[in-house]
Amino acid sequence: MTTTDHLNTPDNSFVHYHQPDPVLQTTVQSWLFAELLPWQKDTWQYFTNHYQNSTKALPHAILIGGNAGTGKRAFVYRFVAWAFCQNNQKHDMQTACGHCESCQWLIANTHPNLYQLPKPLLEAEKSPKKNQILDESPTHQATTTIKIDDIRTMQPFVQQSSHGVRIVVIHQADQMTLGASNALLKTLEEPADNVLMFLLSDTPSQLLPTIRSRLQSFKVSHILPHQSLNFMQNQLPNAHLTDLEQVNHLSSYAPFVAMDMLHSQWYQHRQMWINSWQAVRSGNRTPIQASDYWQKNLSLSDFLYLSQIMLIEVGYIVNQLPSLQSDLNWDKLQPMPKMLGILSLQNVIEQIWQDRRQHIQDKLCYDKLINAMQLC
Ligand SMILES: [Zn+2]
Repeated sequence: MTTTDHLNTPDNSFVHYHQPDPVLQTTVQSWLFAELLPWQKDTWQYFTNHYQNSTKALPHAILIGGNAGTGKRAFVYRFVAWAFCQNNQKHDMQTACGHCESCQWLIANTHPNLYQLPKPLLEAEKSPKKNQILDESPTHQATTTIKIDDIRTMQPFVQQSSHGVRIVVIHQADQMTLGASNALLKTLEEPADNVLMFLLSDTPSQLLPTIRSRLQSFKVSHILPHQSLNFMQNQLPNAHLTDLEQVNHLSSYAPFVAMDMLHSQWYQHRQMWINSWQAVRSGNRTPIQASDYWQKNLSLSDFLYLSQIMLIEVGYIVNQLPSLQSDLNWDKLQPMPKMLGILSLQNVIEQIWQDRRQHIQDKLCYDKLINAMQLC
């Protein structure tokens, strides 16, 4: 493996990005009746055509996999709402009506024929602890693990005999423990009548092969660069085109990740990150001063995420590849760091993410990274 291989993972999404999970029910509500995303039209047609004929024309276990921030959950919720809607056969409707009994149940998160793992959070259930978990986005968020008991609790819902279609949605299916995966396997092997199961995953390669082989995979995340850009221009008509183009590249054409970037604190601090690193390595600032600055200005997860994004970019420049962030003054870094130093900093960041899970104090984590940066 050469040093540049390290920078170019196959899907070009160099930093794995997690959306908060479980999501809030208010977010789910916004997805149920949203406009169809342009890159999901073909799959939508397939689903709605096959569902109209008979539920049996759709595979009973469906994998929706693809990069985070591409609208997988929006697609599934939109379909669930449409499939249950009592008016879906009228006037060739392509979106659930929003006012029938079924649509109202979905809005209230009380639909008896929908089972979700994990369940969305109601606004009132946002305890300070759960808030903290949500705050860990955008990366390395402690996603909820799906345990064997979660699958066992779900099984009566799958096995009951009732009229009408029942739908199961398992979010971040790659977070199932081995026990949970094996328990689910039995359900997949003996499909119940009238049950549709959706498994969603940002990294479907992490599912057990035995699970994956029993799922039929559908693509709703294949986005061309111009589709992502056009979509963002419609959503953010006042944003500058050059800014949108840049976050479009940086996000590997995942428009929801890109728009989050544009509005995030860390994105506004990119030039400061370069300046701060140079100040520390040249001795103009002490590591303690730099650490204090970042503790005041960015949450630890944002600071780590920013550092990961920026180090990738420094790696590109050191390897004389074109920079994706042409709005920044990279010449401030003098002399340019060595590739070995960049790789060691990336390792330090990985270590810090792990330290965090052991509840090491945030301050020590900032200090650790900045001390390492001083030496590069
Ligand atoms: Zn309806």
